[in-house]
Amino acid sequence: MSNNVEEKILHGTTTVGIRARDGIVLCADMRASAGYFIANNNTMKIQKIDHHAGLTLAGGVADAQNIVDILRYHSNLHRVEKQVPIPIHSLARLCSLIFHQNRGYPFIADILVGGYDSEGPALFNIDMFGSVEEKSFVTTGSGSPVAYGVLEEGYKDGLSIEDAKGLALTAVKAAIVRNIGTGDGINIATMDKDGFPSIYSDLMQRKQQKEIPSSQNIMAVILQSIPKEANVTKIEYEGPRIALFTTTPRYLLENNETISSLVNVIKKRIVVRTDESIRKPEDEVRKILADCVPKDADLQGTIFDTATGEVSIEAKRPWLLQRDAKMFNHTDVTEKTGWRIRIRKATTIPSRTIQTINATLKQHASERSRQLKQVGDEIFRPRLSDRTEISLYTLGGFGQVGRSSLLLATPESKVLIDCGINPGARSAMDAFPRLDFVNLTLDELDAVVIGHAHLDHTGFLPALCKYGYKGPVYCTEPTLPMMNLIQLDAIKVAAAQGRTPIYSERDVKQIMRQTITLPYGTVTDISPDIKLVLANAGHILGSALCHFHIGNGNHNFVYSGDIKFGKSILFEAASWNFPRAETLLIESTYGLKEDIQPSRQEVESAFIVAVNKTLAEGGKVLIPIPAVGRAQEIMMVIDHYMKEGKIVEAPVFTEGMISEASAIHESYPEYLARELRQKILETDDNPFDSEYFTNIEHADGREEPMREDSPCIILATSGMLEGGPVLEYFKNVAPEKKNKVLFVSYQVNGTLGRRVLDGSRQATMVGKDGKVEAVTINCGVEKLDGFSGHSDYNQLMSFVQRLRPKLRRVLVNHGERKKSESLAMNIRRMYRLSAHYPQIQEAIKLF
Ligand SMILES: [Zn+2]
Repeated sequence: MSNNVEEKILHGTTTVGIRARDGIVLCADMRASAGYFIANNNTMKIQKIDHHAGLTLAGGVADAQNIVDILRYHSNLHRVEKQVPIPIHSLARLCSLIFHQNRGYPFIADILVGGYDSEGPALFNIDMFGSVEEKSFVTTGSGSPVAYGVLEEGYKDGLSIEDAKGLALTAVKAAIVRNIGTGDGINIATMDKDGFPSIYSDLMQRKQQKEIPSSQNIMAVILQSIPKEANVTKIEYEGPRIALFTTTPRYLLENNETISSLVNVIKKRIVVRTDESIRKPEDEVRKILADCVPKDADLQGTIFDTATGEVSIEAKRPWLLQRDAKMFNHTDVTEKTGWRIRIRKATTIPSRTIQTINATLKQHASERSRQLKQVGDEIFRPRLSDRTEISLYTLGGFGQVGRSSLLLATPESKVLIDCGINPGARSAMDAFPRLDFVNLTLDELDAVVIGHAHLDHTGFLPALCKYGYKGPVYCTEPTLPMMNLIQLDAIKVAAAQGRTPIYSERDVKQIMRQTITLPYGTVTDISPDIKLVLANAGHILGSALCHFHIGNGNHNFVYSGDIKFGKSILFEAASWNFPRAETLLIESTYGLKEDIQPSRQEVESAFIVAVNKTLAEGGKVLIPIPAVGRAQEIMMVIDHYMKEGKIVEAPVFTEGMISEASAIHESYPEYLARELRQKILETDDNPFDSEYFTNIEHADGREEPMREDSPCIILATSGMLEGGPVLEYFKNVAPEKKNKVLFVSYQVNGTLGRRVLDGSRQATMVGKDGKVEAVTINCGVEKLDGFSGHSDYNQLMSFVQRLRPKLRRVLVNHGERKKSESLAMNIRRMYRLSAHYPQIQEAIKLF
């Protein structure tokens, strides 16, 4: 270590600082030595910290750059918060503190901090152990013995800045001649009461054009590039975004190019926020909105988010607020109210889950702002290491379906991807992700990323929060209510089955407060060296493929989650067009060559035939169905073909969580397939609002669907006849020959659904009063494949084929072992790609 340090510092460079009567001179040679340094003969060893302060660097370039970033950040913060430049001695002390905190793993740098503040010129030397000394002249680096000789001879008290410049140049030149580590020209900077002279600024600007500014430097760049007219009062992290607060939002809203050119330079997401001082009280805003929103748009409600200063306007006809600025002008309304405007579609029935989320976020708004700032500080902190090593740890969902979870780790960050449970498991060891394998404390985690809402991907997340995970959870906007709904339902199911739930409702609410939602397709920093993009996975509402861009583009990793690589009525086919993807981790639920499903067209035709036949005979069709996803798909199919006259018109009844799940679907039309989205967002023909559907809220509403000789379609949960309202309908429907039970989802071995499907003519079930009832099954029973939200074998293979030109390796998960194995083998054979199927508790080096 000591040798290393010596080499790095002493064989580096020569820097000189002199305090003159009226200012400070900093001077340094321009060569960075080869070997331990990045070889570069035009290295800037003088760095500007602020208008009035600068420093010289001698030492490891990367280490030193970190310190510059941190100092710039604090200096800007000081200027913004206290309205005066930071005193030079404070900068020196801050610098010492950073050195001191890193004693165990010292920064290898020796620094001179100089500048001109309210007390005049000041110069400090800080060494790598954190000692601070105020100096009138000082030199550091390998040439310093030579330079000291010159300085000691030439320095006098009360030297003018011009004389000090000459002396500094002579000292560095002497070192260049005598010292092999020093050379290639000299940079010199002076600071007086007017700050840095322009010649120095020019040099800095040229440097900034070439490089993307690093971490904390961002604030400085923003402050320098935002015009005064924008009236930016505050710049703050808002999780992975940077929020610019302004008292005159019109300028930034109308001059888009200001923000977009800034985003181009800093490569970070920027949002414009209104300063709290201009936000009008909520009741006043409601009145203004009632005036501004055209009557035809049918304003239903407003939701205020005080953490971001956004007001969501819910309207029945949102398109009337989006198309014509004459009818409704966003900038005008923002200016009038002081709140940013967001337009949302008002749903047929409001979603209770979304209402709870809004209420929870509102209640904890100030705590949430604080958390978002903290998250930003963590994401945009300087990197601690130059190494790039990327590993994947398999914690669950490998060689099995259930408890999907993996850890992505670099020297900088640890990101947990999915956090599911295995509902069918017998012991805790098999039920939960094997977090014990990675020996991780929860505060070491930088982020949790959730692909989609199903319990086998999110069921353990509330427990993670319960045990102390405080960091951000990233997912799409609809995934949050979807997973909350499913997680809360799991508590009820556990209680009904006499099991103790592993978490409570409070833990689920905690997730709401920690979640940061991201739209599809937006690049977002989630740690100092990982960027995340979520893309449509076509599986359920909000489901996402997760694309991780790691290091400086060293590696790109795509996690498929559950995907449907085929279009359905609800969703577009999964996205595949990633700019880069070296490693793909793909699911294999249908990984066997024989796992081929009929096309959507075929299954929809079969559905029409099956339903029509029963309805024509005056019978009822009972469809046991999972509430989330499949139910909405079937509802859309029914509405579509009834309107076209292809399905016999009949009332359709739904019961269970279906209507709540439908309300969440309707709330996020932008996540639905194009045609459906257009219908909901741009017309009054909204299939979720279809006149065919009646939702049964209470048991007493069942009379109508159960009435004799009234043909109808009933969709009820659960999907495998294991509990839920469907059982009551089953008792009513099963004995009659003209009725039909129609399965559209997979029936697991051991469930009543499976027994009925396998031809059982009798079922026993426990009635409401606890008595065992026998039900005779005389009705027709039919099963339709092809409505699955998963890709079949062919779709999985064509997805890999699409990505193949970019891929170096494929990993396979989320399938029974033999399915994962077979898919990996066929990918190797067909596409000549490295492909394998890891088991749980493996560590895989990606880069
Ligand atoms: Zn799923």
